[in-house]
Amino acid sequence: MTRYVSITLRQSVAERAEWICEYCRIPQAAAIAKHHIEHIIPLKHGGQTSEENLALACPFCNEQKGSDVGSFDFETDGALTRFFNPRKDVWVKHFRLSESGKIKSLTAEARVTTKILRINDAERIEERKELMEVGIYE
Ligand SMILES: [Zn+2]
Repeated sequence: MTRYVSITLRQSVAERAEWICEYCRIPQAAAIAKHHIEHIIPLKHGGQTSEENLALACPFCNEQKGSDVGSFDFETDGALTRFFNPRKDVWVKHFRLSESGKIKSLTAEARVTTKILRINDAERIEERKELMEVGIYE
């Protein structure tokens, strides 16, 4: 299975995502570095290079996610839990943006995603809050 994602496919994935990170929702326009096209299920776990397995992710989310597919949800029973899947799950059913810029987790999938992707690191919350204040992030 190829790792190569054609330009046409990259464009299609980015347009579908409306140019925002499908995990933390930071817009490409507000990011310093270009967003990545990432494999939701990494190739090493049998994921395919296809539209159904690709997502747009900011470099920070993508680098933290790496080749992981989930983590342990220690806030409940420690169960091994998959990450939020942008192709199967609806963001607003898993996450809620608070006025402070923090992204609250509504589900176990959201909790492990937020933890591993470090979505609520202090500087990321601060960045979102600043972007919210100027109307670039919602
Ligand atoms: Zn992100």
